[in-house]
Amino acid sequence: PGVDAPGVDAPEAATAHPELLGIAAELREAVLGGTTRPRAWREAQLDGVARMLLQNVSLWERALADDLGKSALEAHLTEIGYTAAEARRAKRSLRRWMAPTPVAAPLALQPAVARTVAEPLGVALIIAPWNYPLQLALAPLIGALAAGDAAVVKPSEVAPATSRLLAQLIPAYLDERAVRVVEGDAAATTTLLAERWDLIFYTGNGRVARIVAEAAAKHLTPTILELGGKSPVYVHRSADIPAAARRIAWGKWLNAGQTCVAPDHVLVDREVAGQLVEELRVATAEQLGEARDSDDFGRIVTARHAERLRDLLPGGTAVTGGDVDVRARYVAPTILVDVDESSDLMQEEIFGPLLPVLPIDGVDAFVRRMRGLEKPLALYVFARDGEAIRRVERETTSGGLGINVTVAHVGSAALPFGGVGESGSGAYHGRHSFEAFSHRKAVLSKPTALDTLRLVYPPIPAGRRDL
Ligand code: NAD
Repeated sequence: PGVDAPGVDAPEAATAHPELLGIAAELREAVLGGTTRPRAWREAQLDGVARMLLQNVSLWERALADDLGKSALEAHLTEIGYTAAEARRAKRSLRRWMAPTPVAAPLALQPAVARTVAEPLGVALIIAPWNYPLQLALAPLIGALAAGDAAVVKPSEVAPATSRLLAQLIPAYLDERAVRVVEGDAAATTTLLAERWDLIFYTGNGRVARIVAEAAAKHLTPTILELGGKSPVYVHRSADIPAAARRIAWGKWLNAGQTCVAPDHVLVDREVAGQLVEELRVATAEQLGEARDSDDFGRIVTARHAERLRDLLPGGTAVTGGDVDVRARYVAPTILVDVDESSDLMQEEIFGPLLPVLPIDGVDAFVRRMRGLEKPLALYVFARDGEAIRRVERETTSGGLGINVTVAHVGSAALPFGGVGESGSGAYHGRHSFEAFSHRKAVLSKPTALDTLRLVYPPIPAGRRDL
C-alpha cells in the first residue's frame, strides 16, 4: 500500500519546493566542519532523542492515538519506550562501537598493523512511513547520530499528527546544524531526492523504493531499503496449536495489522487446519473481546486505506469479523477461510487485520511454495518437530525468521533488522544501525624502518621471474 501522489514523476516536481534546494550541502558543512564528529556531541544528541521522547510522553501518545488509534501500552511498547531504549543503548555503547577494530595483517606484509575505522558517511536522508511513524523516523536517526552523520528526516504525511510533532520537537532537542525535519508529501520528497546525499534510508513500499533507488543512482548514493511483502506463517501438524494461535493473533492484530513484519497469511497442515482456525477465534476473542470497543485495537490510518481492506474481503469467507466502518477507519479483526489464491487478498501485501488461513500438505509443499515467491521480510514457523523447523530454516529465505513466535525478533537489538530481495536491502538496529550509517575504512600502517617491500620492488632478479 503506498500513497499514489499524481504527477510526482514529472520532471518539474523536482523544483516544486525550491526552499529545499541545497539542504544536503548545507548540512554537509556540519559534518565537514567537524561538528558531528566528537563522541560527546553524538552522545548529547542521542540523549536528546531519549529526552524528547520521555519528556513528552502524553503528546506522543495523543499523536499516535490520532493517527492510528494506538493504545498507550502499544505506543510505549512499539514506539516511545522502544525508541528511547534504542537511543540510550546507542549512547551507552558508543565508545565501544567507535573504537577502531584491529585485524590481522598478512605475514607477507609484516611488520605492519591493520585496523578498520568507522567514519561518518556524511549526510543521510531518512524517509519514514506511517505505520510506526515515530519509531521508523527516529530509529534510523539514532543510527545516523551515533555514526556522526547529519540527517534530514522526512516523516510520512499519511500520519500527520506524528509528523507535526516530530517537526515541532526535534528542533527543540537536537542540533539544528545537523538535524532537520522536512514535512511533506511525494512532491517534497521528490525535491529532496534530487539532492546529493551520502546515504538514503527509505522505509515503505517497493514501488516508491524503485523511485528512491533511481534517484540515488544518479549520484551513486548508497541506499538502505526497508520494505515489506507477504510474510507467511507455516503451522506444522506437530505445533502447539493453542500457543501458535495466541502468538499469530497477537502479531497480526498489533497496530491493526499495519506492521511490516505482521503475519500476512497462515499456511497450516491440512489435518490441523480446523483446530487452528478455532483456536485463532478463541485467542482473538480473549485478546480483544468486542474489538470495536477495545482500547487495545487500533484504527486504519486513513479512510482510503480502510476502503482498500474492505475491497480485499471477497477473497475469502470470514469466519469471524468481516465488518468495516470506513468513516470510523475501523476494520474488524477478520479470519478468512476458503481463500481464493488469485484474489487481491492473496496477491497484495494485506497490511491490515485480515488473516487468510489456507491448508497445505506438509513442509515439502511449504518450501516449494516459498521458492516460487518473492523473498518476504519475515517468515514464521510453528512446530515442535525439530526436523520440520530445521528444514524451514535451511530451505527458505527471508529477512528474518521467527520460530514459534511472530514479530518479536524485531525487538532484539542484537539481531539485524532488514529484508532481502523484494523485501529490501541493508539492515539496522543496535550496533547494526551504527554500521549502516558509517563507512568502515580499511587502514594498513607499515613502519619504514625495515623495508620488507624491497622484495617486490622492480627490477626483479632474472632468477626469480618464474616464481
Ligand atoms: P507511506 O505511504 O508513508 O510512504 C513512505 C514514504 O514514502 C513517505 O514518507 C512518503 O512521503 C514517501 N513517498 C510516497 N510516495 C512517494 C513518491 N512518489 N516519491 C517519493 N516519496 C514518496 O508508507 P507506505 O509505503 O504505505 O508504507 C507501508 C509499506 O512499508 C508496507 O509495504 C510495509 O510492509 C512497509 N514497511 C516496511 C518496514 C520495514 O522496516 N521493512 C516498516 C514499515 C513498513
